[in-house]
Amino acid sequence: MAQECVFCRIVAGQVPATIVYQDDMVIAFRDVEPQAPTHLLLIPREHVASLGEFGSQHEGLIAQLVHVANELAAKEGIAERGYRLVANCGKEGGQVVPHVHFHLLGGRELSGDMG
Ligand code: AMP
Repeated sequence: MAQECVFCRIVAGQVPATIVYQDDMVIAFRDVEPQAPTHLLLIPREHVASLGEFGSQHEGLIAQLVHVANELAAKEGIAERGYRLVANCGKEGGQVVPHVHFHLLGGRELSGDMG
């Protein structure tokens, strides 16, 4: 655990969050500043700083993150209409929290603006 990392602190139960899913690898919770009717964050329990630090040793974890995202999209009732799964990487990629996370967004027509 990285002491200064807010998402590690959520994993440790030291910062409150609305957790919607957890297993031994992955935790998902509602974004505190939702940008869409459904806005969840999916993170690994393990502190990985960004998408750029994922390596071949993380294959199982990456697969689980995507699998859980698809399951949660169904549970949120947005699977049929469509949704977006995105990870910002680094400063110019718009990453603010340095613990890798996927945003699961949906529940309205999302902007086509990709940057
Ligand atoms: P990013 O810009 O990709 O790093 O996104 C970070 C996201 O984390 C933002 O959408 C924030 O609203 C969200 N966030 C930051 N702190 C918390 C928190 N304590 N609980 C839930 N979401 C958070």
